[in-house]
Amino acid sequence: MSLNSSSKAFILDGKQIASDLNTNTKKSTSLLSRPPKLVIIQVGGNEDSSKYINSKLKLAESLGIEAIKYTFDEDQELKVLEKIYELNEDKSVDAILPQLPLPASFDEKRLINSISSEKDCDGLHPVNVAKLNLLSKLEDHLSVGADFPIPVTARGILHLIKIALEKTRNTKSLEGLNVVIVGRSELVGKPTAALMLLENATLTVCHSKTKDLQSHTKNADILISAAGCPGLINSKMIKSDSILIDVGLTYLADTNGVYKAVGDILFEECSLIASAITPVPGGVGPLTVAMLMDNVLKIAEVRKEVK
Ligand code: NAD
Repeated sequence: MSLNSSSKAFILDGKQIASDLNTNTKKSTSLLSRPPKLVIIQVGGNEDSSKYINSKLKLAESLGIEAIKYTFDEDQELKVLEKIYELNEDKSVDAILPQLPLPASFDEKRLINSISSEKDCDGLHPVNVAKLNLLSKLEDHLSVGADFPIPVTARGILHLIKIALEKTRNTKSLEGLNVVIVGRSELVGKPTAALMLLENATLTVCHSKTKDLQSHTKNADILISAAGCPGLINSKMIKSDSILIDVGLTYLADTNGVYKAVGDILFEECSLIASAITPVPGGVGPLTVAMLMDNVLKIAEVRKEVK
């Protein structure tokens, strides 16, 4: 974490924070009797997906996690399902990860539901979604390891918020704070909302049909934007000294035609008012991948008796 000389807010350095998490993951994998095994499923040849998968494979390997990839064509939905059923039964496999988004021709929900809930390292299987929403206390879950996996971006967001709170308010507690989430997706908005409630925050979830977004964001002690709309949040929409978590990730071409990652929050102007802020890129993204590896580790710890 660093204090940017031209801005007031602490910049939450996702790369460094993720690196610390990865160090712990590596230590824990070395204590297992066998390396955790992750299988990634890729459908189609989307270049961005291939890039993300390659970086996950590389990171997994560096952390002592055995990771392999199976690739399928866009017209092979049944073959993918067959492979998933096979992997569900394969005792050597701890975690199965379909690289999302899947091509539009695929029934994404059907595919996610076909993965054994015990090997669902993304935490998106309906059984794991229900477990999260029925949880009454977060500590109960985290202290016992992964009796079920929690969606990785939501876990990353909470981790960043706790670091920001400690740095700016000398506490890790979200109790009673106004948290506003922009976005209500299954992947980010909803699981993040569940974690915020478990942390006793006072929660508002905004979305594309919300009227007068600013009237909500202005009250946020912690604002999490996961809309995928570049520049959606400007400095007039935020509260002074708030913590800003930018999940949005959109690739836009600059004047030279070079594509760059852009978040939802106007970083330069908002960082003059906020107390802490995540950059894009280098904020939430690295945490998401680190939490994925941690989920794989925790699943393997629960399954450690399986050889
Ligand atoms: P999604 O499209 O499924 O959901 C977007 C949500 O934002 C919806 O609930 C929608 O109602 C809301 N929304 C859209 N426009 C809005 C507006 N103008 N005002 C208020 N609400 C609005 O997307 P998602 O999968 O939740 O991802 C959201 C963003 O986060 C994307 O940019 C995605 O690339 C990014 N993302 C980043 C990471 C990471 O690790 N960095 C992980 C997951 C998603």
